[in-house]
Amino acid sequence: MGVKACSRKNCENIMCDICIDGKWYLCRTCFEELKEYKRQWQSNLTTLQVLLLIKTFIKTTLPGTYNPYSSFHEDTEENFEKLIIT
Ligand SMILES: [Zn+2]
Repeated sequence: MGVKACSRKNCENIMCDICIDGKWYLCRTCFEELKEYKRQWQSNLTTLQVLLLIKTFIKTTLPGTYNPYSSFHEDTEENFEKLIIT
């Protein structure tokens, strides 16, 4: 029997009961954060796109440090300004 360790990078929690796609586990803390992250997502994503976003989230480190550049906010001007400081 596995310990169901949280799949999130750097997260040491075990006995996680939230299972994603039968492959990964998330602890409650990471799951809450994932739900926060989800609020940035577009409203018309396919299952595959959602899965890719979850996989992206899992690769981010703790806590609350998901890459702001990976937000899917589609405003080119805003994204451009975010990247470049003059
Ligand atoms: Zn976790």
